[in-house]
Amino acid sequence: MTTKELTCVVCPMGCQITISLDEDGTVLSVEGNTCKRGDTYARNELTDPRRTLTSTVVILGGTDKLLPVKTDAPIPKKDLLRAREALRELTVTAPVACGDVLCTDFLGLGVSIVSGKTVEAC
Ligand code: SF4
Repeated sequence: MTTKELTCVVCPMGCQITISLDEDGTVLSVEGNTCKRGDTYARNELTDPRRTLTSTVVILGGTDKLLPVKTDAPIPKKDLLRAREALRELTVTAPVACGDVLCTDFLGLGVSIVSGKTVEAC
């Protein structure tokens, strides 16, 4: 049996989680999480680690020059870099409301890019 330690990043509590695995890598137990989301996070972290991407994109014709954006669901960690680079090519035009969907099925990952702020046109 082996164990892996990780910190849950789902919420600011940052619970320290211990995962016990057998020789085949099968999860035997998950301990240290204080809610079900931590259990799910820990199991996914072993097989398909994902993160929500946050960044900014250029916004034209608005009161701000940059617009904070994020994916509406976590994406595979292995795709984070190319997703961040692809966002450099995305430009939007004001006005934009917080929560507006700016791009659907981003990079074929099945997630949308949404605005994190309202920016009025100027
Ligand atoms: S296990 Fe639950 S309470 Fe602990 S950090 Fe994760 S989400 Fe937050």
